[in-house]
Amino acid sequence: MNAKHNINVASPADPAAELLCSSNFGTFFGVSQEIFDTVWQKLTAPEGNSVGYVSMEIGADPDVFQPLKKLLLKEDIQQSKHLLANTILQKYLNGPRKIPNYSGGLGVLAGDTLKSFADLHMPVFGISLLYRGGYFSQIVDSKVGQIDHATQWNPESTPTLFPLCNPKHPEQPLEIEVPFFNGRSELLRVTAQVWMKMEISEQLDYFTPEFLFDYSLPGAPDWITEAAGQLYNATSDVVKANQRRMLGSAVLPLLSALGFTSQTIHLNEQHGVTVTLHLILQELESIFGNNFASIVTDDDILSAAERVSQKIVYTIHTPVKAGHDRFSRQMYSSISHAAFQRILNLVALDDDNAHEYNFTAMAMRINRSINSVSRLHRDVTRQQFPAFAKKIKAITNGVHHLTWISDARAALFDSVPSIRNWRDVPGCFASLAIEDYPELTTGLQKAWKEDNHHLIAYINEMLEHHRTQMTETWIDPPNYLSRLNKPDWLEPNVFTIGFARRFSTYKRADLIFDDIPALAKILVDNDWPVNFLFAGKAHPEDEPGKSVLKLILDCQEELYTLSNGLGKLVFIPGYDMLIAKRMVSGVHAWLNSPKRPLEASGTSGMKAAMNGVPNISVLDGWWAEGYHEGKTGWKFGYDGPVDDADLSEDPSTLLYAEDSSSFYQLLPNILEIFYSQPEVFLTKAINNLKLNVPIFNTHRMTAEYIHTYDLKLTKQEATKIDIFRSLYQSESAEE
Ligand SMILES: *Cc1c(COP(=O)(O)O)cnc(C)c1O
Repeated sequence: MNAKHNINVASPADPAAELLCSSNFGTFFGVSQEIFDTVWQKLTAPEGNSVGYVSMEIGADPDVFQPLKKLLLKEDIQQSKHLLANTILQKYLNGPRKIPNYSGGLGVLAGDTLKSFADLHMPVFGISLLYRGGYFSQIVDSKVGQIDHATQWNPESTPTLFPLCNPKHPEQPLEIEVPFFNGRSELLRVTAQVWMKMEISEQLDYFTPEFLFDYSLPGAPDWITEAAGQLYNATSDVVKANQRRMLGSAVLPLLSALGFTSQTIHLNEQHGVTVTLHLILQELESIFGNNFASIVTDDDILSAAERVSQKIVYTIHTPVKAGHDRFSRQMYSSISHAAFQRILNLVALDDDNAHEYNFTAMAMRINRSINSVSRLHRDVTRQQFPAFAKKIKAITNGVHHLTWISDARAALFDSVPSIRNWRDVPGCFASLAIEDYPELTTGLQKAWKEDNHHLIAYINEMLEHHRTQMTETWIDPPNYLSRLNKPDWLEPNVFTIGFARRFSTYKRADLIFDDIPALAKILVDNDWPVNFLFAGKAHPEDEPGKSVLKLILDCQEELYTLSNGLGKLVFIPGYDMLIAKRMVSGVHAWLNSPKRPLEASGTSGMKAAMNGVPNISVLDGWWAEGYHEGKTGWKFGYDGPVDDADLSEDPSTLLYAEDSSSFYQLLPNILEIFYSQPEVFLTKAINNLKLNVPIFNTHRMTAEYIHTYDLKLTKQEATKIDIFRSLYQSESAEE
């Protein structure tokens, strides 16, 4: 597996010590010195041929993808005589394996993207924040619903994370000074400590560094501490705006502290867009000097903005209002430089409300490339921002196939000759050889069964745990099944539908329970047992989202009773990447029921597809591209043209009655196939591997992004990127 890696596992010496690497910024672990230097050299080279990828969240928990730990276990590397190597080694073997710096799809996409950059050896690094309170931890009580509390975690003991040290004083951490301003244009310097997470490639022969700013430092002003602790803290607009500034305004200080020369910044959603204000300021200062403010004209500012645009690539992720930051001009003036307000007045005014700054509008203006996350989302984004329509292109999202394919499936794919190269080239599924079908089909059936058994066992253990909790604490278990006897819990091989994602109202988690008697009747009439597994978090300030979650809990008993115990609805609290991985590989079908066209892409369904699991989904986001006329799964709900009215998130426009009845019409078909024509069901699974794995992976997606970055690549690198791009081009479906 690690042929290209420099670690000499055969040497009797000390293989763990060989994984130490160091620079002026400290000592790290996981790749050889040579590899470390190669990466660093690319990021500091004078040509600036590299990219900083800025994202509010990065989801890359080491418990779902950790090639280094796999190697350590395989080679039985358990100890090192080298003191530091041993300390780090023990963290890798026994340390915590969650980094709770994500809330959902945006963050997991960022993590998957950075992993693919590592696998493809691209000169890219990530930039994000480190939240000591994570997003939040979720407890679920059947009477109360979701209860949230700060996540406890400890970056110091987490493998893959390293505090950088100050090159001038190696015993001290690297701290950068981030410029903030108050309403009187006074500079307030705020300190952030810099952590590096190493995203090591599958082959252990490269890594993508991710730099995380930790503002929760002793002595930090209260307004910083308040905004630093938890991702998407939305207790006030000022806190929200400050959190965004902590990301965007730290980008340039980071580059200068590290000596990075990148000429391209990729904004993953507009959260970090204040970096452009600082770049414009830099431009103005360099031309007009420190007193530029009194001499520059609006045209000077706009032409500086135009030059800055050449450095920015921007991805927009959602048509939903809550995803777009708007701040009152009055509030924002109290926390920004007068020069920034002039810039904002020129580039960030909201079209509908003259009293607000719209940061999405600003990101739309200042860039050289705007990317949406699916073809349908491109069309919707063009409708929403007609002034930029020509510039808006589609780069359909993907997932990191190496992260999301289960171990059982991976072992199978390794053994099938025509797809043996699937780890490096996920596109190879497209040329699956006919003679490999029988082996792949029986193997898939077996692996699926195994993953389903694991998932069901995991859930039954959870039910047991909740039952114990019920007698020991005040918490009412989130599942009705916990109150029943064990023989009534879940059984493997029963048709199992999974649904897991953030609980935003447009995602309509409760859609299929709109008419429980109708749903129960389908099961009872045909004696079809079905497990419905649900998971997901609602943002703590999102009351309607929390109500939907509570509604799911409230449906359990009614569904169970009306279906004579055939329909079992289980809620799994604390959704995270590990639960996602267990679910997408262990269920028989993946459900997505958003209101079209509000799900810009969706990625959990792609994770299911990677495992051959068919989707049952509204024809929205990626599914409009992955459905292939039903070869890979099923569609339901409204799938007609979309106009402005369809963008409404008002509860009365969410089409519950229409779309749920469309689901009830479809469901008997699916169950009939699952229970009576398993070979047809398996064909859909194989079709997912053939048709969807080659497209919806982040290797292909990052290859499309690399194209927009205009990097200078070696011939070999360029060829590799072209191969991925040639498999699918998101833009080619332009009407
Ligand atoms: C993949 C993933 C998501 C995104 O799911 P969508 O279907 O795209 O909304 C959210 N949370 C976690 C933990 C995930 O792994």
